[in-house]
Amino acid sequence: MRVEYDIKLGFKDVMFRPKRSTLKSRSQVSLQRTFKFMHTSIEWTGVPIMAANMDTVGTFEMAIKLAEKDMFTAIHKHYSLDEWNAFLSNAPEGIENNIAVSTGTGENDLDKVKAIINTNTHLKFICIDVANGYSEHFVAFVKKARELFPDKVIMAGNVVTGEMVEELLLAGADIIKVGIGPGSVCTTRVKTGVGYPQLSAIVECADAAHGLGGQIISDGGCAIPGDVAKAFGAGADFVMLGGMLAGHDESGGQVVEKDGKKYKQFYGMSSATAMDKHAGGVANYRASEGKTVQVEYRGPVESTVQDILGGVRSTCTYVGASQLKELTKRTTFIRVAEQENRVYTK
Ligand code: 5GP
Repeated sequence: MRVEYDIKLGFKDVMFRPKRSTLKSRSQVSLQRTFKFMHTSIEWTGVPIMAANMDTVGTFEMAIKLAEKDMFTAIHKHYSLDEWNAFLSNAPEGIENNIAVSTGTGENDLDKVKAIINTNTHLKFICIDVANGYSEHFVAFVKKARELFPDKVIMAGNVVTGEMVEELLLAGADIIKVGIGPGSVCTTRVKTGVGYPQLSAIVECADAAHGLGGQIISDGGCAIPGDVAKAFGAGADFVMLGGMLAGHDESGGQVVEKDGKKYKQFYGMSSATAMDKHAGGVANYRASEGKTVQVEYRGPVESTVQDILGGVRSTCTYVGASQLKELTKRTTFIRVAEQENRVYTK
């Protein structure tokens, strides 16, 4: 047994130190980034904030709305081939730049992703997602996917340490999804005791990925726009959101009414709710590692998106970054023992 005594940090442990800046207004800040990828010749330009591949968030409806803002959606893996074909026949032109097809590592998953991509060859992004990206089986799957889809951008995860980021990039992934345990409806840390504070995971994984010419997605743990900015400040190339995008018209999940108030169901993809829906229940050898919650219904996602983008733009002006790309270079985090004043928080 070994203990590491370095302190690892989460979003709540830091704040940005403001810096002198020549920017007059947040409207001068560009949140667009352009990326070239390690294994393909595809170049991507957009706002690198994405909806998570959860069936309550990564929906076709969300993809259309987020694409209008140049943002991205990792479409959840539970749509059928027919549903994909129907969506792509009426989706706005260029949608393939703003969506990924998600898959797990099962045989059925692979067959489905092959069918979706082979009938819609203009799709560019594949997101290979498992809860634990540390298994040899997962690395082998990433290698196989790279052979099968040599010209697609492959996102793969989740991991939280630099050596595994390098291994997955070398196995054929272009972008590594980082985060174990920080998610709003995740109970991995409760059920298993495994995890890594997200801000430190980003710093360490970004360093490993950028050294090889790869990118990372910070996945999970953002509860407010300031957290999204901190993820970028720490070095994330993309930030993936679940809970912050839940509860809207474009989100999946049922609307329920309680005491005259509307709520939408939101649940983890390893929750009993998701497993009942998609896998015929929780298998007897595993525990569910996700929660089911009811979030207040929040109307169209548009105003939430504006709040997030406005927040990140404002962060950039506080530290003097005229482009999102510069944010991490201009970031000095200070360790803090307090966050916002909660006197008037209900
Ligand atoms: P959030 O933005 O809500 O904090 O986190 C979203 C992320 O939580 C997802 O992208 C995914 O990585 C993770 N997640 C989603 N469902 C589950 C689950 O049931 N269990 C665990 N451990 N993580 C989940």
